[in-house]
Amino acid sequence: MLRKTLLASSVVLALAACSDNPTVSVAVDAPAAAVEAEVATAALPDSNPLKHASTLLYQAPDFTKITDDHFKPAFVAGMAEHMAEIDAIANNPEPATFDNTLVAMEKSGQLLGRTASVFYNLSSSTGNDARRALETEMGPKFAEHQDNIYLNAKLFERVKAIYDHRAELGLTPEGLRLTEVTYERFVRAGANLTAEQKLKVRELNKRLSELTNRFGQNLLAASKESAVPVADLAQLAGLTEGAIASAKAAAEQAGLEGYLLTLTNTTRQSALSSLENRELRQKLWEASAYRATEGEYDNQAILLELAKLRAEKGELFGFDNWAEYKLQSQMAKTPENVMDLLGSMAPKVVANAEKEAAEIAAMMAADGVEGEVQPWDWLYYAEKVRQQKFNLDAAEVAKYFSFDKVLKDGVFYTMERQFGVTFKLRPDLPSYHPDVEVYEVFDHDGKSMALFYADYFAREGKRGGAWMNAFVGQSNLMNAKPVVVNVMNIEKAGEGQPQLVSFDEATTMFHEMGHGVHGLFSDVTYPSLAGTSVSRDFVEFPSTYQEDWAVHPEVIANYAKHVETGEPIPADLLAKVLAASKFNQGFDTLEYLSAALLDMEWHAMGSDVKVTDVEAFEAEALKKHGVNLGAIPPRYKSTYFAHVFAGGYSAGYYAYMWSEILAADAFAHVRDTGGLTRERGQLFREKILSIGNTQDLMEAYKGFKGDEPTSEALLIRRGIAL
Ligand SMILES: [Zn+2]
Repeated sequence: MLRKTLLASSVVLALAACSDNPTVSVAVDAPAAAVEAEVATAALPDSNPLKHASTLLYQAPDFTKITDDHFKPAFVAGMAEHMAEIDAIANNPEPATFDNTLVAMEKSGQLLGRTASVFYNLSSSTGNDARRALETEMGPKFAEHQDNIYLNAKLFERVKAIYDHRAELGLTPEGLRLTEVTYERFVRAGANLTAEQKLKVRELNKRLSELTNRFGQNLLAASKESAVPVADLAQLAGLTEGAIASAKAAAEQAGLEGYLLTLTNTTRQSALSSLENRELRQKLWEASAYRATEGEYDNQAILLELAKLRAEKGELFGFDNWAEYKLQSQMAKTPENVMDLLGSMAPKVVANAEKEAAEIAAMMAADGVEGEVQPWDWLYYAEKVRQQKFNLDAAEVAKYFSFDKVLKDGVFYTMERQFGVTFKLRPDLPSYHPDVEVYEVFDHDGKSMALFYADYFAREGKRGGAWMNAFVGQSNLMNAKPVVVNVMNIEKAGEGQPQLVSFDEATTMFHEMGHGVHGLFSDVTYPSLAGTSVSRDFVEFPSTYQEDWAVHPEVIANYAKHVETGEPIPADLLAKVLAASKFNQGFDTLEYLSAALLDMEWHAMGSDVKVTDVEAFEAEALKKHGVNLGAIPPRYKSTYFAHVFAGGYSAGYYAYMWSEILAADAFAHVRDTGGLTRERGQLFREKILSIGNTQDLMEAYKGFKGDEPTSEALLIRRGIAL
């Protein structure tokens, strides 16, 4: 996962510090702006360490001086400074040039960018009440700040003047890309619309936001209402003690006797893998799958209206539908491209799922259950199949994954083998928590190039999950070297115990370093195009790519050694671990694929298409793509597909798998053309990691591989094809 905050100077805004949020790039400067900017920053006392760029190596934040009291005044002064800079650019009496407009924008907002980078990193990894309160307070202010820039008509006029003549300006390819990307950001904010169209968009936005809110609220209420009460403990046979305790606590909280099985977001519910009572499983599954389809919290009319209004909005911006509008700025570019690439997987995924279904049916028969496999049977019997086939002892496996070895002999080792880089501990540089280590990164020629913060352990106040972020984004324009951080939530070992990690955590360490090197190897001029500032369907590609090195024979032999004996992991145990990680992938892939395609179908129709029956539309869409297996419904059905109807992922749920397709395809290409070598690593670095968003990403990919990606390698990666 990747979390984006305001990267210094490019000011890439993503306010909840999460990759799920839309990112927008702003910026400014120019000599004309300097005077007003000085006035704006004058309010900030010199004692505030955020006022000036840090003098530490690569502008590493000086955590020995920064306190929570410094953030708010720095935000206020930073926004004022940035607005003064933007106004100076917009009102410049000189005709618009690339330098006095676009470059000036790139240079602007330094104080704001610096403050936001430090703040959002800390509030994610080391949260406290003061930081959470400031996050809440700043959210709407950033939204307004962004509007003030992208809805500035004078500024847009200048950007458009450059864009219209971009072919004649003798721009570098990166300058050309910056022009196009910046122009598009304004256009997508509505800058090119007539006054009448703008009014219409505003009306649509208002209604869309009401509808998405209502969808989310209905879903919450419907999920709560659909929780399944259970009177008798005997019915819960199979659940763990912990799950039973949670069900009891949930009932108490709802003022009920007995137990309550609450619903999680997805169609599948975790209790379905262990509940022995088949009738109860059916009841729980139906409660989940028919959520928000009737009564007070029915979401059907809402989502039908959402789909229609989004289509209208897409059309206002000159596109055939909403998906076309959303995908234009993505690597995939069109809904057809998504449907083709994802759809190409369907036959093999379905065939694999049918094989899994046969195993499950056999297990059911052995258990004396007659008839077809039902969706509420799948996870329960799959778990039995899994135990029979693999029976892995997680604690025994973990003994081969000691944290220190995974990091140094695994992750760092693999980066050195591919890219020649080395990591040297710098205990003298300030860190924001005693558990966080700071490393200086040296390039293959021995030159110092960046800083890397390793923040791997869980603690109070840290958000869940794992992510990468940057304290300082790379930019040749600003002479800025990258300062990046990897954050995870590995449980700390008890006093005197060896620090071990699970196989999944080891893989995640490689994943996050994949994002890390995307930031570390960035070599671009303009900050808003640097590092991980790429489209959502590309951003998980470099990270997922590195995951596969974690299990490469040369790599795993180097780091997976028994914590007591130092013996390498036995081949048969490793084979079992790998096979187990590919178990049930037909089901997992199919439920994801069908949800992604369903999302795309809802958003790839014009506003004139009349849909009145949600269930019939779903059935038709799944059938069209050949992913309609009764026992494997989509991961989300329409009435509870919050990603796309209550959140920002509409026509975007496909992006995770698109990135994984790229990763698997690229890994197979490198493996088959030389493998773990400096030469192959250098190619990946030059063609993919160093370019940020300075090129069309499909063209960049073709430049790397010589061809477009196919889904073949992903199917092998997931154990679906041979
Ligand atoms: Zn990631």
